Amino acid sequence: MYPKLKVDRKKLEHNINFAKKELEKRDINLCCVTKGFSAKREIVDVYYENGIREFADSRIENLKTISYVGIKRWLIRIPMLSEVKDVVKYSDISLNSQVEIVKALGKEATRIGVIHNVILMIDLGDLREGVRPEKAVEVAGEFLKIEGIHLLGIGVNFNCFGGIIPTEKNIEELILVADEIEKEYDIKLEVISGGNSGTIYMVQNNTLDKRVNNLRCGDVIIEGLEASYLSFVPEMEKDIFTFEAEVIEVEQKPSCPIGESTVNAFGDEVTFEDKGIMKRAIIGCGKQDVEIDKIVPIDKDIECIGTSSDHIIVDCTKKGDIKVGDIIEFYVTYSAILSATTSKYVTIEIV
Ligand SMILES: *Cc1c(COP(=O)(O)O)cnc(C)c1O
Repeated sequence: MYPKLKVDRKKLEHNINFAKKELEKRDINLCCVTKGFSAKREIVDVYYENGIREFADSRIENLKTISYVGIKRWLIRIPMLSEVKDVVKYSDISLNSQVEIVKALGKEATRIGVIHNVILMIDLGDLREGVRPEKAVEVAGEFLKIEGIHLLGIGVNFNCFGGIIPTEKNIEELILVADEIEKEYDIKLEVISGGNSGTIYMVQNNTLDKRVNNLRCGDVIIEGLEASYLSFVPEMEKDIFTFEAEVIEVEQKPSCPIGESTVNAFGDEVTFEDKGIMKRAIIGCGKQDVEIDKIVPIDKDIECIGTSSDHIIVDCTKKGDIKVGDIIEFYVTYSAILSATTSKYVTIEIV
């Protein structure tokens, strides 16, 4: 069945094991983030089979489906007040910044007789989730008072909203916050979570403070891409995922539409360059399957000239033999993998 998202098992296994070893060497716990591929069961299985025991996702719906014994599940988006029941039931650890939400988590945990672990998120400049460092000690104190809650540690996130990367300077701020909390309340924070795939470069060049003992990594494993300097990690595989779709029409047609024009199906104005008659193919795949402008044909002789909900139109004048039923392969990026695994129309195949 097409379209299809293909996963190269060998390459994925290589990246999982490489990341795991790199982090283990420095006593950093690897928590694997599954949201980039919508926690698809057959892909998560590969992680589990390769020894991964901590899984993280932004959606409780996804965590529900990850259910091996002996694992820990992290909810890495701040929980919604309306989902606290499921959060306590389906996650062991959640990232938090809001006292009101942690109180609700504590109430639910107490009701069902468990302790729920929380990581207090500190914002160190990227300006997405987390409290500013000057407020951290006070909020940690509030978390510590809540019955049913264990303050497992603190964490930070970079490379998301503001495009701020982790550096020795902001990681030092994180450690300072940890020290202050520990001193103020005479406790030991078990986990200092130093960010996501963007922090890998600091592991590799040995500049990450030794107190950081956890990273939450998704992208670097599924793309082999280091997120801070956007370079491929040389020891890691790339093109783990590829996308395939099928040709449903091949015809010679003009390059410019004919007749009186209005906007296209999505209300956008469209203009066309006159390249004369071209050989055009239509591929049975569109916006409902994948974030279409985030995929690129692997064959350089095929050029994408337009898309709609269910079609990709390509110029294949340069390509001699193309016929109905042919399968066209595409490179994909992170957001294409995300959208393809979210679409119910795309088959996933591990090869
Ligand atoms: C998405 C996310 C991650 C994983 O990010 P990658 O760049 O895929 O490694 C980690 N932590 C939080 C809070 C996230 O939202």
